[in-house]
Amino acid sequence: MTRARVVQSNFGGSDPLQVLRQVFGYDRFRGPQDAIVRHVIDGGSGLVLMPTGGGKSLCYQVPALCREGLAVVISPLIALMDDQVLALRQAGVRAAALHSALASEAVSDLWRHLQRGELDLLYVSPERLLGGDLLERLQERPLALFAIDEAHCVSQWGHDFRPEYLQLQALAQRFPQVPRLALTATADPRTRGEIIERLALEQGRVFLASFDRPNIRYLLRPKQEAKEQLLAFLEEFRGEAGIVYARSRSRVESFAALLQAAGHDAVGYHAGMEASQRSSALSRFRNDPGVVVVATIAFGMGIDKPDVRFVAHLDLPKSLEAYYQETGRAGRDGLPATAWMVHGPGDVPQLRRFIEDSDSDAAQKRIEHDKLDALVGFTEAPGCRRQVLLAHLGETLPEPCGNCDRCLEPQVLEDRTVAAQKALSAVYRTGQRFGAAHLTDVLLGADTARVRSLGHRELSVYGIGKELDRDQWRTLLRQLTSQGWLEPVPEGRGGLRWGEETRVRALLRGELSLELLPATPPRQERQRASERSRGGRPSLAVGAAEAEVDAGLITALKDWRRLQAREQGVPPYVVFHDRTLVELAARRPSRLDDLGQVSGIGAAKLERYGEAVLAVIEGWQAQT
Ligand code: ADP
Ligand code: ZN
Repeated sequence: MTRARVVQSNFGGSDPLQVLRQVFGYDRFRGPQDAIVRHVIDGGSGLVLMPTGGGKSLCYQVPALCREGLAVVISPLIALMDDQVLALRQAGVRAAALHSALASEAVSDLWRHLQRGELDLLYVSPERLLGGDLLERLQERPLALFAIDEAHCVSQWGHDFRPEYLQLQALAQRFPQVPRLALTATADPRTRGEIIERLALEQGRVFLASFDRPNIRYLLRPKQEAKEQLLAFLEEFRGEAGIVYARSRSRVESFAALLQAAGHDAVGYHAGMEASQRSSALSRFRNDPGVVVVATIAFGMGIDKPDVRFVAHLDLPKSLEAYYQETGRAGRDGLPATAWMVHGPGDVPQLRRFIEDSDSDAAQKRIEHDKLDALVGFTEAPGCRRQVLLAHLGETLPEPCGNCDRCLEPQVLEDRTVAAQKALSAVYRTGQRFGAAHLTDVLLGADTARVRSLGHRELSVYGIGKELDRDQWRTLLRQLTSQGWLEPVPEGRGGLRWGEETRVRALLRGELSLELLPATPPRQERQRASERSRGGRPSLAVGAAEAEVDAGLITALKDWRRLQAREQGVPPYVVFHDRTLVELAARRPSRLDDLGQVSGIGAAKLERYGEAVLAVIEGWQAQT
């Protein structure tokens, strides 16, 4: 029932809340969305920092519809642009994308629409925006705003620098009256500073949302038999979409085969595959339900599939930032999802070798080693995973989360106060500038040339730590760092200094004590949490509703959705998100009016799909 419809949208001057309800079918703004949207509608510029799944798109899509003129969205990823355009068109918005993969007739159509003012949003790659005469054409038209998505691409420090992004500096000069909104999920302060400087946003506002993803359950497991562990983990997720990350191409291939043999609908994905194989794997993952992609980190950028229920790591990622980004691909729809990882000390030397063998300069290698240390520190830290992760992103979570392995499977800790006192003293006595290797030498009383030339044999701390071995001291120093007792010396090539001094002194005086995990974790006898996140945190209202939902009705709705999607050649989640289906199954509306109340059903979708959805629900009720 695909009717080609002339989409009429003109929301100019509307109230943002009304646009949110009518067009997108949502009741209320989330977190800082409201403030951002109002700021931009009033003509303000700024930078939005929000985690993946936080709802960045609405921050510019709503103002795009409330302000006069065309909104231009700059995005580096073709797949992502196309998805957004499909989703907007489903909601009745006049959107188009301009990028290198567009056929020439489609391009001339687009120019015509642009000329006649028949577009609300134009997605464009930076090359297309700045090459050719698009800027001249835009200068002749009223513009609602510029949105610069994935704005961290302008930063050389960040992990995804794109030289084309640098030229976006021109926008501020050529269109001084048009609001510019930069958006990214990369939080670190240095990248943030570069974005502001390079996109001339000094006069704008910065909107920082929490980077917590409460619906993700973090589960870390000691690596034993990775194959068996993965298969056991996946049992709870049969039939659901997920990503399994492995370090190398050969591991991707062998694990994909393993999963296929165990009856999972698994596909492999890595950079060594033919382009056609890669794109068919990608399209299966996007369009078919319950596909598991086994991939190297080549996979994931630009994937905005909302219903990824798990991300599994078979090997340690490169850094805690990478871990956060990769696991963040789970549960964008806000429903419970799991980030699962097996890790062991064996992963680390290999990663160190990769760093050493790369062609980066010495300073860059140092940074990479420090980043890896922070990640290893995260895996070893005794407390709540989410608290450690958020602390690394510069955020404080006051209470343990209750949704990670540490919170769900309490540990037996050992008192390590004395060892910590020795380590902290060694840092102090050597002048708060040496790294773990030298500190360990001092603690163990090693007779190295460096120890001798620095005169460190004379120190009172020399040789006071013989009760632990080298690895144990290294572990302890990392644990102390990840808990803030120690911190890296800025630009200090791996050197360590004291963290907050009053706290450190209290520990040295014995007024505080320190409990840490035992050096070698006992094997699997602890009580295990379900691998599957049940949520359990406040923002998961739908998770609670799910209990009363009949799985049969969900299946019926998903089947209907799959047919719809196939007929139109779009991914299923563009028709309705899982979240919407779950709510439909919980509420079982019987009239169009009630249907319109369901989250994710705006006016256009109500008109297009309303009757059909009611028929599915009615048909299912008649059967049961
Ligand atoms: P991001 O780009 O930040 O990763 P998206 O813009 O794709 O996130 O939004 C993530 C999900 O949250 C989408 O499914 C979107 O429809 C949903 N969403 C965003 N804002 C709201 C809101 N105010 N109410 C309900 N759902 C929302
Ligand atoms: Zn926790």
